[in-house]
Amino acid sequence: MTKIGFIGLGNMGLPMAANLLKAGYALTGYDVSAPARTSAQAANIPLADTPDQAIRDAEIIITMLPNGALVLDVWQTILATALPSSLLIDCSTIDVASARLAHQRAEAAGCPALDAPVSGGVGGAIAGSLTFMVGGSDRAFASAEPILAAMGKKIVHCGPAGAGQAAKICNNMILGISMIGVSEAFVLAEKLGLDAKALFDVASTSSGQCWALTSYCPVPGPVPASPANHGYKPGFAAALMLKDLALSQDAARSVGAQTALGAHAADIYRRFVEEGSGGDDFSAIITKIRDQSETTP
Ligand code: NAD
Repeated sequence: MTKIGFIGLGNMGLPMAANLLKAGYALTGYDVSAPARTSAQAANIPLADTPDQAIRDAEIIITMLPNGALVLDVWQTILATALPSSLLIDCSTIDVASARLAHQRAEAAGCPALDAPVSGGVGGAIAGSLTFMVGGSDRAFASAEPILAAMGKKIVHCGPAGAGQAAKICNNMILGISMIGVSEAFVLAEKLGLDAKALFDVASTSSGQCWALTSYCPVPGPVPASPANHGYKPGFAAALMLKDLALSQDAARSVGAQTALGAHAADIYRRFVEEGSGGDDFSAIITKIRDQSETTP
């Protein structure tokens, strides 16, 4: 039976690990935080006391951590004791440069590696319906595919090392910009006396159609499952959107790409988070746009 070590059992990691156990893999988990360990125990996830113990004899090692510095740090520990042929899969959302460095270090230690960030949020992690965007060799991808399939519905091999992270931040830059655009349109409609449902009915079947509108509408009503109908409870928190927009801006600077709207979207979300709304769903940005509109003469 394939043995998996899973490090980082937070909001995403815990349900992903639970789905791997459900699929019949032998899994041992590890997390530094006491509350995360308590939740993992409650979900019957076998726990190790150290990362070394969690990855002992593991053919597959998965990390799901907050940022690139932590991934590099944890991978350094792992690479010192991993089996020579262990496949390392990082599912965190991190900067492309750290992802490529992690690949290089794994390769130097003789271990195949993949960057495999996800889309779909906590709901997708629980349901096992995540989308994986994967960077790394064809061979590593082929070995990982059945394992990723136990946690997700769509698995896309995006290219070599770092391509998964590149796809993730480009996608989320589109999402951040389009959510602001959709929110501005609904606020303008309100000011013009145009009914939100009428705007939705037109735009959702016209050239304004996009995911932020039709699956995640920022006003209550048209899309019953969207966070706007539930007090903007996340969903996908504004702080995480800011993280991803900041990563896309770092990447854009590093390669000299012009992303003026991406930069503006990052500034808008930065102010929203700094004002204390980081825990709200990112679609709550409409409330900020509406408030600003009301104070404008
Ligand atoms: P989280 O903060 O809930 O979980 C991260 C876990 O890593 C925590 O439990 C933390 O204790 C643990 N951790 C930190 N340092 C560690 C270490 N050195 N060793 C072991 N464990 C350590 O975050 P999350 O929401 O689960 O997100 C994880 C990753 O997935 C992030 O990179 C995030 O950007 C990405 N992501 C999150 C979502 C979402 O909706 N939450 C969606 C897509 C992608």
